[in-house]
Amino acid sequence: VKIEEKLYQNRYIVDESRPHIQIRNDAVCKSCESQACTVCCPAACYSKNETGSVTLATDGCLECGTCRVVCQDKENIQWDYPRGGYGISYKFG
Ligand code: SF4
Repeated sequence: VKIEEKLYQNRYIVDESRPHIQIRNDAVCKSCESQACTVCCPAACYSKNETGSVTLATDGCLECGTCRVVCQDKENIQWDYPRGGYGISYKFG
């Protein structure tokens, strides 16, 4: 089974009014050489954009915490768990 097919098994309830992850400062992303979040996120929530910065879409976030770890030295990611009732539901636990 492909990873995309496994991810498709998950369900996600988006908290439109309060994203659980936010980029603190766009300028920090622009000056970041590696932009590691754009390659390490298993759900591809981060993408390089045309301004040279990073766009974040939290829909589909697996709440793994990887982005928070790779951005640890710059501390440019505000990361909280979603509110109760929102976020990922794993079909297989
Ligand atoms: Fe991606 Fe994991 Fe960060 Fe969610 S917590 S945005 S799945 S790296």
